Amino acid sequence: MATPITIETNTSFIILPEQPMQRRYVDERVGYFTDWLMEYGDNQQKTKKREFLNRWRLEPKPEDMEKYKRGELVEPARPIVLYIDPATPKQWRKYLILGVNDWQPAFERAGFKNAIIAKEWPENDSMRMEDARYSFINYFPSPVANAYGPNTHDPRSGEIIQTHIGWYHNVMQLLRNWYMVQAGPNDAGARKPVFDTELMGQLIRFVSSHEVGHTLGLRHNFGSSSMTPTDSLRSKTYLAKHGHTASIMDYARFNYVAQPEDNIPRELLFPASASMTNGPLNGDISLPARLHRPTMKRS
Ligand SMILES: [Zn+2]
Repeated sequence: MATPITIETNTSFIILPEQPMQRRYVDERVGYFTDWLMEYGDNQQKTKKREFLNRWRLEPKPEDMEKYKRGELVEPARPIVLYIDPATPKQWRKYLILGVNDWQPAFERAGFKNAIIAKEWPENDSMRMEDARYSFINYFPSPVANAYGPNTHDPRSGEIIQTHIGWYHNVMQLLRNWYMVQAGPNDAGARKPVFDTELMGQLIRFVSSHEVGHTLGLRHNFGSSSMTPTDSLRSKTYLAKHGHTASIMDYARFNYVAQPEDNIPRELLFPASASMTNGPLNGDISLPARLHRPTMKRS
């Protein structure tokens, strides 16, 4: 007979804002996750589907509104704060944080500084991970080789309220295998069975940044790598300026077209980070819809 077990569960509710955020209606050229509702207006002779984006509510503080309108960088009234699960192995925490903060330059182009910040979970016991007010990157000691970036949003407006990003321990094996096979000819660090901490850390940063992108409402952008001429993948000058893919939301892997004689350094073998000049927000909104038919998969 099976041994009985005890399972502790938690349900946490959050009151939605009294004033729903203004919706931004969908435009297929912009690769965002969406929600929708059906309107049945008294004066409509048909139903009307209203589809709108999932996005965070970033607004200037009232006292900064004039500065914001003048184009000066201001901090949002409520920045996006992501905590690192305290169960996360210590050596990887800083790389997860870097992957989050890599998005800051993208928000600076929209007028906000320090719009998104990752922090270690505080030592004191006053916060609970079960509390729905907090967003965090959850660590799972699991053989699953994956990660994901969901969000919980206000169904009236698409306003993202919080997120629990997940990354499984064994995504490191996936990253190790990819990087060894794809970057091995160009990076001696990839030709070792166990990667050094800095290299694995940068690989984790890359995953963190991609999943954070989903959490910001961005879908995959499988068309972005079409913006890179294939022969430019062997040009250090081109790669330093543009990276080898226009969006971290692509499924771009590591630069396996480069040859050893091209002398491409490690950082240019990685897909463009969210912090690059031609970073994800730019790349993700500039593609025509026909190149960008995203799926609902968020891993
Ligand atoms: Zn993804």
